[in-house]
Formats: sequence, C-alpha cells, structure tokens
Amino acid sequence: MMGDCIFCKIIAKEVPAKIVLEDDDLIVFPDINPSADTHLLIVPKEHIGSIRDLESAHAGLLVKVYQTANGMVDEYNLKEGPYRVVVNGGKAQHIPHLHFHLLGGQWRKQV
Ligand code: 5GP
Ligand code: ZN
Repeated sequence: MMGDCIFCKIIAKEVPAKIVLEDDDLIVFPDINPSADTHLLIVPKEHIGSIRDLESAHAGLLVKVYQTANGMVDEYNLKEGPYRVVVNGGKAQHIPHLHFHLLGGQWRKQV
C-alpha cells in the first residue's frame, strides 16, 4: 500500500468506490469520469506503478486481468458491440498505480 495513492486507498476501503468484483489479486470498479457507456477500471491490488514496472512474476496476474475483462464483457453484455482494454502510460497516465480501462459501447472522449 502506498500512502498517497488513490487506488491503494480504494483497495484499502479508505476511499469509496462501487466495487463490482474483488478477489485476492484484483479489484474492479467504475471510472468516476467515464469515457464510454461502460467504463470499468481493473486494478491489481499490488501497487505496480505502470507497465514499465512489470516483471516476469506478474505473468499470471496479467492473464487474470484479461480473463477478468472477459468476464466483465459477458456480465455487461459488451460482446456484440465495440469494446477495448486500454492501458495508459507516460503523460497519458494520471494515476501511478497500474490499471486497465475496459471501455464498452459508445465512446465519449479519449480515456
Ligand atoms: P489514467 O489517466 O491514469 O489512465 O486513468 C485514471 C482514471 O481513474 C481516470 O479515467 C479517472 O477518471 C479515474 N479516477 C481518478 N480518481 C478516481 C476515483 O477516486 N475513483 C474512481 N472510481 N475513478 C477515479
Ligand atoms: Zn497504489
């Protein structure tokens, strides 16, 4: 847990979020400022700064992230429409705790 990290605070339940799925490794909740009809954040519980901080030991975690995205695609009925999984980096990344955007349906703005 990083003390000043908003996603660590959500994981620690110190900041509220409408959690839609949680297990030992991941948490999923809607983006507070959605860029699409459905906009979920899939967030590893481990504080990994960005994709540049990934190590071989995270391989299983990454597969789990995409399997979780698949599950959400089914649950939110996104399969027939357009959907994307997006990871921002550099100046496009605003929260320095690795997270995966799942965007489905009508795109409203850049994520
Ligand atoms: P990034 O720009 O880092 O890829 O994405 C960060 C995302 O987190 C943004 O889409 C932003 O709307 C979302 N976000 C920032 N703070 C909060 C928060 O406190 N709660 C939730 N649910 N989403 C947040
Ligand atoms: Zn964090």
